[in-house]
Amino acid sequence: MRVIVIGGGISGLAAALRLSSGGASVTVLEGSARVGGKLLTGSVAGSVAVDLGAESMLARRPEGVDLAREAGLAESLGPPTAASAAIWSRGEMCPMPRGHVMGVPGEPEALRGLLSDEGVARAGQDVSLPPTEVGEDVAIGGYVAERLGPEVVDRLVEPLLGGVYAGDAYRISMRAAVPQLYEAARAGTSLLAGVRGLLQRTPAAPCGSPVFTGIEGGVGRLPGAVADACRAAGAVIRTGTPVRAVRAHPAGEPSPPGTAAPARWTVVTGSGETLGADALVLAVPARQAARLLADEAPATAEGLRAVEYASMALVTMAFRRADMEHVPGGSGFLVPPVEGRTIKASTFSSNKWGWVAAQDPELFVLRTSVGRYGEESVLEREDSELVELSLRDLAAATGLAAAPVDRVVSRWNGALPQYPVGHTARIAGIRAAVEGVPGLALCGAAYEGVGIPACIASGERAARETLAPAAAGSARE
Ligand SMILES: Cc1cc2nc3c(=O)[nH]c(=O)nc-3n(C[C@H](O)[C@H](O)[C@H](O)COP(=O)(O)OP(=O)(O)OC[C@H]3O[C@@H](n4cnc5c(N)ncnc54)[C@H](O)[C@@H]3O)c2cc1C
Repeated sequence: MRVIVIGGGISGLAAALRLSSGGASVTVLEGSARVGGKLLTGSVAGSVAVDLGAESMLARRPEGVDLAREAGLAESLGPPTAASAAIWSRGEMCPMPRGHVMGVPGEPEALRGLLSDEGVARAGQDVSLPPTEVGEDVAIGGYVAERLGPEVVDRLVEPLLGGVYAGDAYRISMRAAVPQLYEAARAGTSLLAGVRGLLQRTPAAPCGSPVFTGIEGGVGRLPGAVADACRAAGAVIRTGTPVRAVRAHPAGEPSPPGTAAPARWTVVTGSGETLGADALVLAVPARQAARLLADEAPATAEGLRAVEYASMALVTMAFRRADMEHVPGGSGFLVPPVEGRTIKASTFSSNKWGWVAAQDPELFVLRTSVGRYGEESVLEREDSELVELSLRDLAAATGLAAAPVDRVVSRWNGALPQYPVGHTARIAGIRAAVEGVPGLALCGAAYEGVGIPACIASGERAARETLAPAAAGSARE
């Protein structure tokens, strides 16, 4: 079976590895000059390696860790240091509260300080409120505000969700983004009690097993390692090869004995080259997938076209420790949008990742993130302005007054798919439409999760769906 995987981000590479090891003859076509998509390692201050895109993976899900091990990176996996995160709220740096599910607490008292006294009291009223209807889906912000009051949303849920989706809590689907919370909300009346139940049921991590993991040298090393594993399994990986069009050919006459079956799909690259395949895996963002499928799978394309994306930028800066009056502690902080600041978070990379600090102990490396859904005008500013605005907010939050010795601005335009209310139903519709198109599978961050393990899972699912008809055929023979 000849399979073409379009898109060499982590989803496409995960699909390619499973397909190759399942016996398919695989070609990955990646439009840009490198594999990895949103996973990218670069450097700051000359040669200090840093992640310029995604920097950590959820380790509670197995897919990311397993793929890294399979790709030969087992020795490089490592959790963040014990440095803890904070929230810059109401002018104070508050420790990240414990005992919450995506910012929704089990005990309102845990939020004292982060919230005003009135905000804490309002959250406690949840237990005496009548049930709140959740229906088939509900925006997490609206639901939590109704149960616990808007302060919980504005000061905790919003910044935490913002870190994952760069989205707006009042639009994001509770069912798609935090399904366990949706189930708890459906099952009971009190949200606080529901969260306490969830926290009790969450199995304690085995001693020493981290919730998140990074990769020494950067999570951005993962795609290169997976690409190498794909090549070792026989796959061909071509970068600088954007796909311009795909054409489906209806199953024709059976080919004469001894000749190859006619291709079910033809793929046209940017340079006009055509390639044939029995199956396609589209591992590109939803808009690009919609464009490619507009003629051949219009129902699928219509659903894909509706998926919206947010843009953001990361400003990575290196400071000489000797220039700093004091070095901020902790792994970094989140900034609730209601604070009216430019940055929405800052990660103190030298505190969070031992491997970053070890590269140059004289330097302190941090990064800020800027931009979220619906508030992207700030991204029209020049790189130098994003640096200035970041420094202004960092000074206000931490007292940092030193000038950076280097800065790198990484722009991620249209990078984060939004999961608004109704997302689960929309994706179910897209998946149902794809079932009617033989030899086509979709994967990527637009579908069942934006995090790296979820993307890998969707790539592996696409590989299974692609190989299934062939496996069923050989079982019949
Ligand atoms: C700044 C940032 C930070 C993040 N941080 C984290 C984090 O710390 N942890 C985490 O778990 N997740 C994080 N995420 C989310 C996660 O990194 C992404 O959701 C995930 O990497 C997406 O992978 P993908 O393969 O689905 O898509 P992409 O990475 O977008 O890959 C798609 C690929 O398709 C290629 N392509 C597009 N069109 C064509 C075409 N016509 N022909 C050929 N190729 C094409 C693109 O060039 C790209 O390489 C972050 C995301 C961003 C933007």
